[in-house]
Amino acid sequence: MWIKKNSEELKGLEKDNKNDVCIESLLWGLISFLLFSIVDKIGYSKTFVSIDPIPWNEFFEHLPIIFCISLIIAVVYWYFKKDASIFEKKSLICPSCENVKKEDGVRSCECGGTFEDLETMKWVD
Ligand SMILES: [Zn+2]
Repeated sequence: MWIKKNSEELKGLEKDNKNDVCIESLLWGLISFLLFSIVDKIGYSKTFVSIDPIPWNEFFEHLPIIFCISLIIAVVYWYFKKDASIFEKKSLICPSCENVKKEDGVRSCECGGTFEDLETMKWVD
């Protein structure tokens, strides 16, 4: 049957979600940094479809700017993603009859039970 997770498990769930968003943000920052670095170093120009590599010393002068842009991308990603779950429709389950549905504002079930957030529930035999 379905039972509510205890408060410790719920805390862990929240922590996991936060950690995931942090790691994803860092990855996006890293990918952006690498991509911008490579594009800058080889001097790739989409407008002229050409490659014109720049010297290493010039590239190193650009690094702080590239780093800042990547950092901004990571922070913006983190900012919008951390609250994204608010906008997503939750999956709900009625523990009494195991009916499943998406969040629609109605929490009472036809069987007389109450729909609960599926993430906060767990299955036990
Ligand atoms: Zn029900």
